[in-house]
This record gives sequence, structure tokens and C-alpha cells, in this order.
Amino acid sequence: MYPVPFPLSPSLWAATAAPAPATETLHNNHHADVVVIGGGYAGLSTALHLAERGIKVTLLEAREIGFGASGRNGGQVIPGLKYDPDDMIKMYGQERGEQLIKFAGQTANPVFDLIAKHNMDVPHLRKGWIQGAHTPAALELALQRAEQWGRHGAPVKYLDRAQTQSLLGTERYLGGWVDERAGTVQPLSYVRGLARAAMNAGVNVYTESPVDSLALQNGKWSVHTANGSVVTSDRVVMCTNAYGGDLWPKLKTTIIDANTFQVATKPLPEHILNTIMPEGHVCSDTRNLLLYFRRDHQGRLLMGGRGPFREPKGPEDWAHLERVMFKMFPQVKGESFEYRWCGRVAVTRDYLPHLHEPAPGLLIDIGCMGRGVGLQTSMGQAIAQYVATDNKLALPFPITSIKPFPLYGLRRIYVNAVVTWYRLNDGGL
Ligand SMILES: Cc1cc2nc3c(=O)[nH]c(=O)nc-3n(C[C@H](O)[C@H](O)[C@H](O)COP(=O)(O)OP(=O)(O)OC[C@H]3O[C@@H](n4cnc5c(N)ncnc54)[C@H](O)[C@@H]3O)c2cc1C
Repeated sequence: MYPVPFPLSPSLWAATAAPAPATETLHNNHHADVVVIGGGYAGLSTALHLAERGIKVTLLEAREIGFGASGRNGGQVIPGLKYDPDDMIKMYGQERGEQLIKFAGQTANPVFDLIAKHNMDVPHLRKGWIQGAHTPAALELALQRAEQWGRHGAPVKYLDRAQTQSLLGTERYLGGWVDERAGTVQPLSYVRGLARAAMNAGVNVYTESPVDSLALQNGKWSVHTANGSVVTSDRVVMCTNAYGGDLWPKLKTTIIDANTFQVATKPLPEHILNTIMPEGHVCSDTRNLLLYFRRDHQGRLLMGGRGPFREPKGPEDWAHLERVMFKMFPQVKGESFEYRWCGRVAVTRDYLPHLHEPAPGLLIDIGCMGRGVGLQTSMGQAIAQYVATDNKLALPFPITSIKPFPLYGLRRIYVNAVVTWYRLNDGGL
């Protein structure tokens, strides 16, 4: 567990979110059909969809709802995975590959559907995502990506340089493509909305209730929290992602828990705001160390990207993002920054989410990379279906064994070397 205060001061999302639902710390022993560990999108979506099937669920969150990446992210709801459709067919074969393309292509839908269905108090907008290409080679890739998703029926378009510039309000990209399935949410409000929906469906949600051990005895799980309370259950689903620490042996060695940083300006004057993403798109680019940016629902400009592996020491750890914003959007120069915050993503070796079942009745979902808003909401739906039916085909990814990253102990050195290499190759800004 990271010693990060929350709300990480000052966090834009905590300052502008709908209030958290009233929850309590677990102080009793009881039985549930399923215990879900982790109060982010994955855990809450799993719990909600299990409860909707009449299954009795207890969800245990170590800190507060959305304490992990779900309350800190950029709020860009983008479908798809790291891999393009043709790659997915190559990796998984025609039938399984097609299923994965279908799953990956629809991941933004449940986010907007759940917000509507449960009438959540979540600022949101669905105007599409633009991937800006920063080099000629990346532009070629963008063209192929748009073509491949287009072949699978997705509402996507290739954008030339002039179109990209006018939709983004920056001259820094050579072109790109737009995916109209994407959009934005206020991410902390959304995870709180999910918690409220889960509680209304009957899930017992406990916060400030860190699980410190799990044990399987005579086919039943005992889930122990730090204050000595115990929930017994038939099944456990662990959705702790980059914030799970040592709860399950070796699990943390399967991911690199990289920090990603964000800044937000004060609300911009209208004449500037009108020049930036005027149609409400969101953007991330083709760099290895990608930059992602959008407007928020109150007229701020947000920019996210790499940062130090360690926890931040002061505002200087965000200074590179502020410089980038001014270079990319010179019209913003002179405006001041209101919020700086960061969070951890769990990067796996193959950049895909991993599912593990290291003991009977225990399912682990880990590996969120930077696209978890839609993906982890959808994973929760699929996991609930699997837990309820035991049909492995309900899962978009195969269940695999826990395999540590090679040289995990040297990961900081490794990450720093990779970051330096990518920075050189990404070109300056
Ligand atoms: C700064 C940042 C920007 C991002 N931007 C985007 C974006 O724009 N778009 C996008 O799609 N994705 C983005 N992501 C990724 C996305 O936020 C994540 O993929 C997603 O939120 C992961 O959800 P999760 O439920 O799997 O994990 P988390 O939200 O991390 O939840 C895990 C929870 O488990 C809890 N926990 C851990 N250990 C225990 C324990 N022992 N007992 C009980 N509870 C425990 C933690 O406290 C935490 O609340 C970003 C991530 C970060 C960090």
C-alpha cells in the first residue's frame, strides 16, 4: 500500500466530485456468497453485476471508494486495447481474436449506459477521442489503426493535419484519427456513482477495511481485515490492481506499478477555451511516453503524462507537463495551474489485463495500463458473469498463471532506463 494521502492534495477530482456514498468500516463477522476486494471500477462493477444476479456480495476497500487509479485518472473513456484488431487475430486466432475485438471495441458503452441507467451524478460527454500522430511513422500507424477498426464497423475516421489542428487547437500533430465511441467522465464521481448503484443493488460496501490475509479452509474462504473482522465466502474476486501490495504472494511482481502525473489549469477564459478541443474531443498521442489531455466540465485544461517513479516531492515534479502544455497550446501561456496530482497504473509484460486463479474460488484481475475506465467496468461485467456461471468463455482473456517480471527487483532501474530511451526516441516537445 502506498503512503499517499487522499485526496492527494490538491486533486481536481476530489475538489469537484459528487459526494461519496455513506459507508462504514467492517466491524463484524459475516458470510457472503462472494467477497470482492478493491473499491475501484473493476471491483465495484463486479459487485454490482453480481448483486443484480441475486448474489450476496461484500466489497472491502482499504481506504475510500476510488482511492486507487479510479479516483485519480484522466477520465478519458476510450475503447480498444494496446493492440490493433489485426494484432488481436494474430495473437489469439480468428475466433477468439474476433471475440476480443468485439469486447475491446465496446468497453466505453457500459460506462455511459450505467451512468444513464443509475441516473448517476457524473459530468460526462461522448464526443470522441483523437489520437494525435507525432511523427510520419506514427501517422502511418494511425491510418492503419483507423482502417482496421473501420473494417470492424467502428465509427472512426482518419484525420489530416489541418483537421487535427482545428479539432485539437494545437499545431503539434501531423494528423491522427478519431474514434467516436469514446468520451469523458468525472472519474471520481463515476466510481462513487458505481458504489452507490452497487449499494442500492444490495452490495455491502465497507471502506477503511483493508484485507490483510485470505485463507481457504474446507472449500470456504476467510477474508480477514486489519482490525480482526472476518468475512467467509464461497468465492473471492481480487481487484486491487496497482495498489494491492503483498496481499497475494508474488502478484505484485507481475506488474510495473508506474506513476502517471497530471496538471490542470484554472478555468480558462472563454476566448482561449474556444480554441482548444472546441467540439469536446479528448486526446492522447502516439508517443511511447504518451501525453493525454482534455478539457474538464468547468473549462480547465488538463494534461497528463510521465513522472518520477517515486512519489512526488513537490510541484517541480509536474513542471515538465506544464512546459509541455505551454508549448503545445501557446494560447494558454500566462494562465496558472490549479491542481497537480498523480496515481499508479499496473503495467503488465504484454500490456494486457491478466486474470489469475491461483486457488479454487479466487479470481484475480490485474493490469490496467492507461485505459481502465471502460476496460475495468467491462471486465467487472465479464467477471460477474464468470463467477455466476463458471463459464470461462464469459471472460475476454484466458486465465493464466502468476509469472513474475524478469529482474523484478531491479524494476526502478529498468523503468528509468526505458523512460530515458523512450524520451530520446519520442523526440522533444
Ligand atoms: C493518473 C492516471 C491517469 C489515468 N488516465 C486514464 C484515462 O484517462 N482513461 C482510462 O481509461 N484509464 C486511465 N487510467 C487507468 C485507470 O484509472 C485504471 O485502469 C482503473 O481505474 C483501474 O481500476 P481498478 O478498479 O482495476 O483499480 P483501482 O482503481 O486502482 O482500485 C484498486 C482498489 O483496491 C484497493 N485495495 C488495494 N489493496 C487492498 C486491500 N488489501 N484491501 C482492500 N482494498 C484494497 C485500493 O485502495 C484501490 O481503491 C489512469 C490511471 C492513472 C493512475
